[in-house]
Amino acid sequence: MILNARSHERLKGVHADLVKVVELCASNGRVNFQVSEGLRTAARQAELVRAGKSQTQNSRHLTGHAVDLVVLNPDGSANWDFTKYIGLHTEMALAADALKVSIEWGGNWRSLRDGPHWQLPFNKYPK
Ligand SMILES: [Zn+2]
Repeated sequence: MILNARSHERLKGVHADLVKVVELCASNGRVNFQVSEGLRTAARQAELVRAGKSQTQNSRHLTGHAVDLVVLNPDGSANWDFTKYIGLHTEMALAADALKVSIEWGGNWRSLRDGPHWQLPFNKYPK
């Protein structure tokens, strides 16, 4: 699978290590997905917190250390079934291992599970 132009546009400003993982995962081609969000403005983050869609003002999206990926159905529409994101995480973890990049998946978070979210860890990638 080749990432579409919109996905490439949304990877602008994202840390090169995370971009490499997303690109390898895409080229492995076992899950069809696109990038829904990369770098985020402080204003948009504040809006998401107000809307209850995020719990932090310290999101890794603000610094280009996070991406949101959406699994696509064969017709190109978004698939929000969490089990699909478990499958995508398996593929992201394989790509990250191959590149020796550490990643964290929002699907493992207890407080606000975030299946479409992957980020570089704070301890290895401080601001
Ligand atoms: Zn996210």
